[in-house]
Amino acid sequence: VAKTEERNALRFYTPKMHADARRRLKLASELRQALTRNEFQLLYQPSVEMRTGRIVAVEALVRWRHPERGSVPPDEFIPIAESLGLIRQIDQWVMETACAQMVLWDQMRLPPLRMAVNVSAGTFAHPDFLPGISQALVQAGVPANRLLVELTESAILRLGEDTERAMQSLHKLGVGVAIDDFGTGYSSLAYLKLPAVAYLKIDRSFIAGLPSNGNDVAITEAMLAIARSLELHTIAEGIETEAQHEFLLRAGCQEAQGYLYSRPLPPDEIERLLAPRASQSGKRLSLVPPRRA
Ligand code: C2E
Ligand code: MG
Ligand code: MG
Ligand code: MG
Repeated sequence: VAKTEERNALRFYTPKMHADARRRLKLASELRQALTRNEFQLLYQPSVEMRTGRIVAVEALVRWRHPERGSVPPDEFIPIAESLGLIRQIDQWVMETACAQMVLWDQMRLPPLRMAVNVSAGTFAHPDFLPGISQALVQAGVPANRLLVELTESAILRLGEDTERAMQSLHKLGVGVAIDDFGTGYSSLAYLKLPAVAYLKIDRSFIAGLPSNGNDVAITEAMLAIARSLELHTIAEGIETEAQHEFLLRAGCQEAQGYLYSRPLPPDEIERLLAPRASQSGKRLSLVPPRRA
Protein backbone atom coordinates (compact mmCIF):
# COMPACT_ATOMS: atom_id res chain seq x y z
CA VAL A 1 0.00 0.00 0.00
CA ALA A 2 2.79 2.36 0.98
CA LYS A 3 4.49 1.79 -2.35
CA THR A 4 1.41 2.70 -4.38
CA GLU A 5 0.84 5.76 -2.29
CA GLU A 6 4.40 6.85 -2.89
CA ARG A 7 4.02 6.34 -6.62
CA ASN A 8 0.80 8.25 -6.62
CA ALA A 9 2.43 11.03 -4.65
CA LEU A 10 5.22 11.26 -7.20
CA ARG A 11 2.75 11.35 -10.05
CA PHE A 12 0.82 13.99 -8.21
CA TYR A 13 3.76 16.34 -7.61
CA THR A 14 5.82 15.95 -10.77
CA PRO A 15 3.52 17.75 -13.21
CA LYS A 16 3.16 20.66 -10.78
CA MET A 17 6.92 20.95 -10.40
CA HIS A 18 7.28 20.89 -14.15
CA ALA A 19 4.69 23.61 -14.52
CA ASP A 20 6.45 25.77 -11.89
CA ALA A 21 9.81 25.29 -13.57
CA ARG A 22 8.34 26.09 -16.99
CA ARG A 23 6.66 29.18 -15.60
CA ARG A 24 9.92 30.38 -14.06
CA LEU A 25 11.84 29.75 -17.28
CA LYS A 26 9.28 31.70 -19.28
CA LEU A 27 9.26 34.53 -16.76
CA ALA A 28 13.06 34.60 -16.91
CA SER A 29 13.22 35.11 -20.66
CA GLU A 30 10.43 37.68 -20.51
CA LEU A 31 12.20 39.47 -17.65
CA ARG A 32 15.26 39.98 -19.83
CA GLN A 33 13.11 41.93 -22.28
CA ALA A 34 11.01 43.79 -19.72
CA LEU A 35 13.49 46.64 -19.24
CA THR A 36 13.86 47.42 -22.95
CA ARG A 37 10.10 47.11 -23.40
CA ASN A 38 9.54 49.57 -20.59
CA GLU A 39 7.29 47.22 -18.64
CA PHE A 40 8.37 48.28 -15.16
CA GLN A 41 6.42 50.80 -13.18
CA LEU A 42 6.87 52.41 -9.77
CA LEU A 43 4.20 52.78 -7.15
CA TYR A 44 4.87 55.03 -4.16
CA GLN A 45 3.73 54.23 -0.64
CA PRO A 46 3.50 57.22 1.73
CA SER A 47 5.24 57.18 5.07
CA VAL A 48 3.51 59.15 7.80
CA GLU A 49 4.96 61.03 10.77
CA MET A 50 2.99 59.44 13.60
CA ARG A 51 2.76 62.49 15.85
CA THR A 52 1.31 64.77 13.17
CA GLY A 53 -0.15 62.47 10.53
CA ARG A 54 1.87 64.32 7.91
CA ILE A 55 3.25 62.47 4.88
CA VAL A 56 7.01 62.97 5.11
CA ALA A 57 8.32 60.35 2.70
CA VAL A 58 7.42 57.82 0.06
CA GLU A 59 8.89 54.42 -0.74
CA ALA A 60 9.24 53.41 -4.38
CA LEU A 61 7.93 49.87 -4.97
CA VAL A 62 8.49 48.29 -8.35
CA ARG A 63 5.80 46.53 -10.39
CA TRP A 64 6.12 44.57 -13.60
CA ARG A 65 3.26 45.20 -15.96
CA HIS A 66 3.37 41.89 -17.77
CA PRO A 67 1.61 41.97 -21.16
CA GLU A 68 -0.44 38.84 -20.39
CA ARG A 69 -0.25 38.33 -16.65
CA GLY A 70 -0.95 41.89 -15.62
CA SER A 71 0.86 43.31 -12.61
CA VAL A 72 3.48 40.87 -11.27
CA PRO A 73 4.47 41.55 -7.63
CA PRO A 74 8.17 42.01 -6.78
CA ASP A 75 8.23 39.01 -4.45
CA GLU A 76 7.64 36.90 -7.56
CA PHE A 77 10.14 38.40 -10.01
CA ILE A 78 12.89 39.97 -7.85
CA PRO A 79 14.30 36.56 -6.80
CA ILE A 80 14.37 35.51 -10.47
CA ALA A 81 16.01 38.79 -11.46
CA GLU A 82 18.59 38.22 -8.71
CA SER A 83 19.44 34.73 -9.93
CA LEU A 84 19.69 35.92 -13.55
CA GLY A 85 21.97 38.83 -12.69
CA LEU A 86 19.35 41.32 -13.88
CA ILE A 87 18.65 42.92 -10.53
CA ARG A 88 21.32 45.62 -10.83
CA GLN A 89 19.77 46.98 -14.00
CA ILE A 90 16.31 46.98 -12.45
CA ASP A 91 17.49 48.67 -9.24
CA GLN A 92 19.36 51.29 -11.33
CA TRP A 93 16.19 52.00 -13.34
CA VAL A 94 14.27 52.33 -10.06
CA MET A 95 16.81 54.81 -8.62
CA GLU A 96 16.80 56.94 -11.77
CA THR A 97 13.02 56.91 -12.12
CA ALA A 98 12.46 57.70 -8.43
CA CYS A 99 14.92 60.62 -8.55
CA ALA A 100 13.29 62.00 -11.71
CA GLN A 101 9.89 61.70 -10.02
CA MET A 102 11.12 63.71 -7.04
CA VAL A 103 12.13 66.53 -9.38
CA LEU A 104 8.74 66.46 -11.13
CA TRP A 105 7.00 66.72 -7.75
CA ASP A 106 9.28 69.58 -6.71
CA GLN A 107 8.37 71.39 -9.93
CA MET A 108 4.70 70.85 -9.11
CA ARG A 109 5.44 72.42 -5.74
CA LEU A 110 4.49 69.41 -3.68
CA PRO A 111 6.05 69.46 -0.21
CA PRO A 112 9.57 68.01 -0.48
CA LEU A 113 9.53 64.34 0.44
CA ARG A 114 12.23 61.90 1.29
CA MET A 115 12.35 59.09 -1.29
CA ALA A 116 13.23 55.54 -0.32
CA VAL A 117 14.35 52.89 -2.80
CA ASN A 118 14.83 49.19 -2.14
CA VAL A 119 18.14 47.68 -3.18
CA SER A 120 19.09 43.99 -3.38
CA ALA A 121 22.28 42.62 -1.84
CA GLY A 122 23.78 41.99 -5.30
CA THR A 123 23.22 45.61 -6.28
CA PHE A 124 24.58 46.99 -3.01
CA ALA A 125 27.78 44.92 -3.07
CA HIS A 126 28.66 45.65 -6.71
CA PRO A 127 31.42 48.17 -7.49
CA ASP A 128 29.06 49.95 -9.93
CA PHE A 129 26.50 50.70 -7.22
CA LEU A 130 28.08 53.92 -5.94
CA PRO A 131 28.72 55.38 -9.41
CA GLY A 132 25.18 54.33 -10.35
CA ILE A 133 23.50 56.02 -7.43
CA SER A 134 25.51 59.23 -7.79
CA GLN A 135 24.69 59.27 -11.49
CA ALA A 136 20.98 58.97 -10.69
CA LEU A 137 21.26 61.90 -8.25
CA VAL A 138 23.35 64.13 -10.49
CA GLN A 139 21.30 63.37 -13.60
CA ALA A 140 18.10 64.40 -11.80
CA GLY A 141 19.72 67.20 -9.79
CA VAL A 142 18.53 65.86 -6.44
CA PRO A 143 20.52 66.34 -3.21
CA ALA A 144 21.79 63.07 -1.75
CA ASN A 145 20.05 63.60 1.58
CA ARG A 146 16.61 63.33 -0.05
CA LEU A 147 17.31 59.70 -0.98
CA LEU A 148 17.26 56.72 1.36
CA VAL A 149 18.45 53.24 0.46
CA GLU A 150 16.51 50.36 2.02
CA LEU A 151 18.48 47.20 2.57
CA THR A 152 16.97 44.16 4.28
CA GLU A 153 18.62 42.69 7.32
CA SER A 154 18.97 39.36 5.49
CA ALA A 155 20.74 41.12 2.59
CA ILE A 156 23.26 42.48 5.10
CA LEU A 157 23.87 38.97 6.33
CA ARG A 158 24.58 37.79 2.78
CA LEU A 159 26.94 40.71 2.13
CA GLY A 160 29.30 40.09 5.01
CA GLU A 161 32.49 42.12 4.73
CA ASP A 162 31.45 44.15 1.68
CA THR A 163 28.75 45.79 3.78
CA GLU A 164 31.00 48.09 5.73
CA ARG A 165 32.86 49.36 2.68
CA ALA A 166 29.67 50.05 0.74
CA MET A 167 28.05 51.71 3.75
CA GLN A 168 31.04 54.02 4.20
CA SER A 169 30.96 55.16 0.59
CA LEU A 170 27.21 55.77 0.78
CA HIS A 171 27.70 57.79 3.93
CA LYS A 172 30.41 59.87 2.23
CA LEU A 173 28.02 60.52 -0.64
CA GLY A 174 25.38 61.63 1.87
CA VAL A 175 22.79 58.93 1.22
CA GLY A 176 21.24 57.34 4.30
CA VAL A 177 20.46 53.67 4.79
CA ALA A 178 17.36 52.10 6.32
CA ILE A 179 17.44 48.56 7.64
CA ASP A 180 14.34 46.97 6.10
CA ASP A 181 12.40 44.05 7.62
CA PHE A 182 14.32 44.61 10.86
CA GLY A 183 14.05 41.70 13.28
CA THR A 184 13.73 38.96 10.66
CA GLY A 185 17.31 38.61 9.42
CA TYR A 186 19.11 36.60 12.13
CA SER A 187 22.07 38.88 11.70
CA SER A 188 24.41 40.52 14.19
CA LEU A 189 23.46 43.96 15.43
CA ALA A 190 26.97 45.33 14.88
CA TYR A 191 26.05 47.00 11.58
CA LEU A 192 23.63 49.28 13.45
CA LYS A 193 26.70 51.26 14.57
CA LEU A 194 27.71 52.11 10.98
CA PRO A 195 27.30 55.84 10.44
CA ALA A 196 25.30 55.45 7.20
CA VAL A 197 22.56 53.53 9.01
CA ALA A 198 20.00 56.10 10.08
CA TYR A 199 16.64 54.30 9.99
CA LEU A 200 15.17 51.06 11.31
CA LYS A 201 12.05 49.65 9.68
CA ILE A 202 10.25 47.28 12.02
CA ASP A 203 9.01 44.31 10.06
CA ARG A 204 5.31 43.84 9.41
CA SER A 205 5.32 40.40 11.04
CA PHE A 206 5.74 42.01 14.48
CA ILE A 207 3.24 44.76 13.80
CA ALA A 208 0.58 42.22 12.86
CA GLY A 209 0.40 40.93 16.46
CA LEU A 210 0.03 44.36 18.07
CA PRO A 211 -1.34 45.18 20.55
CA SER A 212 -2.68 41.82 21.76
CA ASN A 213 0.26 39.46 21.28
CA GLY A 214 2.58 39.82 24.27
CA ASN A 215 5.63 38.54 22.39
CA ASP A 216 5.19 41.01 19.54
CA VAL A 217 4.68 43.81 22.07
CA ALA A 218 7.90 42.87 23.87
CA ILE A 219 9.93 42.55 20.66
CA THR A 220 8.60 45.80 19.20
CA GLU A 221 9.33 47.70 22.41
CA ALA A 222 12.84 46.22 22.50
CA MET A 223 13.50 47.27 18.90
CA LEU A 224 12.25 50.79 19.61
CA ALA A 225 14.52 50.93 22.67
CA ILE A 226 17.58 49.89 20.64
CA ALA A 227 16.75 52.48 18.00
CA ARG A 228 16.31 55.20 20.61
CA SER A 229 19.61 54.54 22.31
CA LEU A 230 21.48 54.41 18.98
CA GLU A 231 19.62 57.52 17.78
CA LEU A 232 18.10 55.73 14.82
CA HIS A 233 14.86 56.94 13.30
CA THR A 234 12.09 54.30 13.50
CA ILE A 235 9.55 53.38 10.84
CA ALA A 236 6.92 50.70 11.42
CA GLU A 237 5.66 48.87 8.32
CA GLY A 238 2.34 47.22 7.63
CA ILE A 239 0.05 49.22 9.94
CA GLU A 240 -3.50 48.19 9.14
CA THR A 241 -5.50 49.07 12.26
CA GLU A 242 -6.12 52.06 14.52
CA ALA A 243 -5.11 49.91 17.49
CA GLN A 244 -1.68 49.26 15.95
CA HIS A 245 -1.29 52.98 15.26
CA GLU A 246 -2.25 53.91 18.85
CA PHE A 247 0.15 51.38 20.33
CA LEU A 248 3.10 52.46 18.18
CA LEU A 249 2.47 56.15 18.77
CA ARG A 250 2.45 55.61 22.52
CA ALA A 251 5.54 53.37 22.31
CA GLY A 252 7.43 56.23 20.65
CA CYS A 253 7.68 55.00 17.07
CA GLN A 254 8.33 58.00 14.83
CA GLU A 255 7.01 57.06 11.43
CA ALA A 256 4.68 54.47 9.92
CA GLN A 257 3.57 52.98 6.63
CA GLY A 258 0.62 50.74 5.95
CA TYR A 259 -2.75 50.28 4.37
CA LEU A 260 -4.29 52.23 7.30
CA TYR A 261 -2.77 55.40 5.79
CA SER A 262 -2.30 54.48 2.15
CA ARG A 263 -1.55 51.64 -0.22
CA PRO A 264 1.28 52.07 -2.71
CA LEU A 265 -0.04 54.57 -5.29
CA PRO A 266 0.77 55.70 -8.85
CA PRO A 267 2.29 59.20 -9.10
CA ASP A 268 -0.94 61.03 -9.99
CA GLU A 269 -2.64 59.75 -6.84
CA ILE A 270 0.31 60.88 -4.72
CA GLU A 271 -0.11 64.28 -6.36
CA ARG A 272 -3.79 64.38 -5.43
CA LEU A 273 -2.92 63.49 -1.84
CA LEU A 274 -0.23 66.15 -1.56
CA ALA A 275 -1.22 68.95 -3.90
CA PRO A 276 -0.99 72.34 -2.17
CA ARG A 277 -4.38 73.89 -1.45
CA ALA A 278 -3.72 76.78 -3.84
CA SER A 279 -3.69 74.51 -6.86
CA GLN A 280 -6.96 72.94 -5.75
CA SER A 281 -8.79 76.26 -5.93
CA GLY A 282 -10.81 77.38 -8.96
CA LYS A 283 -12.04 74.60 -11.17
CA ARG A 284 -11.69 71.82 -8.69
CA LEU A 285 -13.52 73.58 -5.92
CA SER A 286 -16.52 74.10 -8.17
CA LEU A 287 -16.59 70.35 -8.86
CA VAL A 288 -15.90 69.14 -5.34
CA PRO A 289 -18.32 70.37 -2.67
CA PRO A 290 -16.44 72.24 0.09
CA ARG A 291 -15.84 70.19 3.22
CA ARG A 292 -17.77 71.08 6.34
CA ALA A 293 -15.66 72.31 9.25
P1 C2E B 1 9.42 45.97 1.52
O1 C2E B 1 10.46 46.92 1.05
O2 C2E B 1 9.49 45.51 2.93
O3 C2E B 1 8.04 46.67 1.18
C1 C2E B 1 6.85 46.54 1.94
C2 C2E B 1 5.87 45.62 1.29
O4 C2E B 1 4.70 45.52 2.11
C3 C2E B 1 5.35 46.11 -0.07
O5 C2E B 1 5.07 44.96 -0.85
C4 C2E B 1 4.06 46.82 0.32
O6 C2E B 1 3.14 46.93 -0.75
C5 C2E B 1 3.55 45.93 1.41
N1 C2E B 1 2.68 46.64 2.35
C6 C2E B 1 2.70 47.94 2.69
N2 C2E B 1 1.78 48.22 3.64
C7 C2E B 1 1.15 47.06 3.92
C8 C2E B 1 0.10 46.70 4.84
O7 C2E B 1 -0.46 47.52 5.58
N3 C2E B 1 -0.28 45.39 4.87
C9 C2E B 1 0.30 44.46 4.06
N4 C2E B 1 -0.13 43.20 4.13
N5 C2E B 1 1.30 44.76 3.18
C10 C2E B 1 1.73 46.05 3.11
P2 C2E B 1 5.55 44.85 -2.36
O8 C2E B 1 5.36 46.17 -3.04
O9 C2E B 1 4.88 43.65 -2.93
O10 C2E B 1 7.12 44.61 -2.24
C11 C2E B 1 7.63 43.44 -1.68
C12 C2E B 1 9.12 43.52 -1.50
O11 C2E B 1 9.78 43.55 -2.77
C13 C2E B 1 9.60 44.78 -0.80
O12 C2E B 1 9.44 44.63 0.60
C14 C2E B 1 11.04 44.85 -1.24
O13 C2E B 1 11.85 44.04 -0.42
C15 C2E B 1 10.99 44.25 -2.64
N6 C2E B 1 11.07 45.34 -3.64
C16 C2E B 1 10.10 46.21 -4.03
N7 C2E B 1 10.57 47.08 -4.96
C17 C2E B 1 11.89 46.76 -5.15
C18 C2E B 1 12.94 47.29 -5.99
O14 C2E B 1 12.78 48.28 -6.73
N8 C2E B 1 14.16 46.67 -5.93
C19 C2E B 1 14.39 45.61 -5.10
N9 C2E B 1 15.62 45.06 -5.10
N10 C2E B 1 13.43 45.09 -4.30
C20 C2E B 1 12.20 45.65 -4.32
MG1 MG C 1 11.32 48.53 1.71
MG1 MG D 1 10.01 45.79 4.69
MG1 MG E 1 9.91 42.98 2.70
